[in-house]
Amino acid sequence: MSAEGLDWRNANLGTRVRVALWLRDEVRVGNAFSKAALRAAITGAEQVDRRMRDLRPAGWVIRTNLDKPSLQPDQLFLEKIGAPVWEREHRAAGLRQISAKTRRYVLERDQHMCRRCGVGAAEAYPGEPGSTARLTLGHVNPHGSGSAGRAEDLITECARCNELVRNLTGVQMSSAQVWERVKALPGKQKRELLEWMAADVRPLSPVERAWGMYRQLPAALRDEMQRDLQDLLES
Ligand SMILES: [Zn+2]
Repeated sequence: MSAEGLDWRNANLGTRVRVALWLRDEVRVGNAFSKAALRAAITGAEQVDRRMRDLRPAGWVIRTNLDKPSLQPDQLFLEKIGAPVWEREHRAAGLRQISAKTRRYVLERDQHMCRRCGVGAAEAYPGEPGSTARLTLGHVNPHGSGSAGRAEDLITECARCNELVRNLTGVQMSSAQVWERVKALPGKQKRELLEWMAADVRPLSPVERAWGMYRQLPAALRDEMQRDLQDLLES
């Protein structure tokens, strides 16, 4: 054990710090590890997997087999060590301190819809009947090192987009690739995109806003409203 007690076996340290030290000292950069090995090492701690994922916003790059196909499904790969969260001044790096008030504000501002794919709360993903989207809050710039829980830095995302975006580190499209797509858009859509860029938000139409609100209602009330709308249109 080091002089400062900075050893992953030290149960007095926070779980995220212990996971970081275990990755640094036992796995080491450039090696794969299994979730089972992680859980076996950090015993007696709650939510070890989650604490490991919490290292990503602090600049740690931990790959899964989704973005590194050579890995087995239960394997992870330590590609880069980020903020030294075992040091006092870096202990809170990447941690999201989002108040309940901010959370409500962001969800309402974003009409309770994923800002990346447009799925609504508890809605099924297109082409996947039976799937259920869960909304969460993500950072506008997920790979920034900021830890501020400010509403303007946060967007509503479904859990799936949130995970995808977090895993995108290093494999994002290049500026040239994105520019090719932008250039290929018809003129009208180019102007539309420019407006979104200027506002830094994709504006929702009144019908999309109404849809987001409708999706917040319990299923029985949604059915009722659907019938009411049908009656209204037929009357
Ligand atoms: Zn989404």
